[in-house]
Amino acid sequence: MTLAIVASKMHRIVASASIAARARARELTAAGHGIVDLTVGEPDADSPSHVVSAAHAAAVDGDTRYPPIAGTIALREAIREKFARENGLEYARSEVIVGNGAKHVIFHALAATCDDGDEVIIPAPYWVSYLDIVRFSGGIPIVVACHARHEFKLTPEALEEAIGPRTKWLILNNPNNPSGAVYTADELRLLARVLERHPHVWVLSDEIYEHYVYGTTVHVSFTTCATTLRQRTLTVNGVSKTYRMSGWRIGYAGGPSPLIDAIDTLMSQSTGGVCSISQAAAVAALTGPQDCVSAIRQDFTRRRDLMISRLAEIANFACLPPNGTFYVFPDCKAYLDTVSPCGHDIATDHDLCAYLLETANVAVVYGEAYGCPGHLRFSFATTDERIILGCDRVAAALGKLKPKTSVWTTL
Ligand code: PLP
Repeated sequence: MTLAIVASKMHRIVASASIAARARARELTAAGHGIVDLTVGEPDADSPSHVVSAAHAAAVDGDTRYPPIAGTIALREAIREKFARENGLEYARSEVIVGNGAKHVIFHALAATCDDGDEVIIPAPYWVSYLDIVRFSGGIPIVVACHARHEFKLTPEALEEAIGPRTKWLILNNPNNPSGAVYTADELRLLARVLERHPHVWVLSDEIYEHYVYGTTVHVSFTTCATTLRQRTLTVNGVSKTYRMSGWRIGYAGGPSPLIDAIDTLMSQSTGGVCSISQAAAVAALTGPQDCVSAIRQDFTRRRDLMISRLAEIANFACLPPNGTFYVFPDCKAYLDTVSPCGHDIATDHDLCAYLLETANVAVVYGEAYGCPGHLRFSFATTDERIILGCDRVAAALGKLKPKTSVWTTL
């Protein structure tokens, strides 16, 4: 049923596919199905105890009133120090803003800057929310497919081709959810060189997974490699992933003050300042001991290797080992155009996802939601036991699919 009360612009967006997949997995778990949930988009451990203590102290000390829209001075100073310490970026306090999670910051940045018909370049695979946020803001997403042969990274040639007179933003997600790709400094410099020729294009660099990089991979902030573009780059980050604080809802950004002011004005009419207690917790996270960050990275390195080795045992289920994030993004095309043991057609990655959930009790997200059909996103932000069990169940379920064509081929 469509309700007359709902604005037509609401038809431009849908609920986030990854959140929907997670919700369905939780529903089935609550109903007693032994679901192995590999949709998880957050670290599975609790927030560090010093963070929780700081929040408690803030509440007890009466830090309970409306905070400034842009964020408390203490948090903005902690963010400035973080950008300088970890990314070599110097921002004035007026160039930093705090939001209700990175998603909130991205929403307000795009809503505050996109006029109807403005184009936003989004390399695919992309994080599910970018497209909907751009559409809701009146912008037009220009999706640029990035191929596995380029490690799912945007090339300078593809960027050049996508830029037009109405291009307002390029959204660069580095490390990338869902592919796990991480750009090298040289690759970022080449993209920056293209952008230098197009002064009307801004860059939104979403670096929320910056601390989840593996092996010899190093994360480099876009602005660090593109100093000439500093005045038209918004660097977005947050504490959700780095400090296991997804429930506290703190994201932030650094960028030129006219843009920060516009976001601030819009937030002043939407959500107001972010929860004062969460801000105190985020100060403790950013300024306190950082060993919790390296500890979780070590843990995730082991889980990543475990998941890659398990998935590698499945025939024709190719995946590039991710250099960053906590996702693996295998190509599942060899298992499409098949029939399940119950006689259901498995035509798309969406069908395959439903099949794995219903018959193998494993929840993953389909690649089409990320603009990259023919893939599945597996999260390794879970225990070793669940990784092993989930991968084993997927292997068994895929092994039961039969090719749809009459000629029998071994998958
Ligand atoms: N950007 C990317 C690429 C993400 O994957 C996510 C969350 O999954 C976010 C931003 C939003 O993070 P936050 O919890 O800070 O809103």
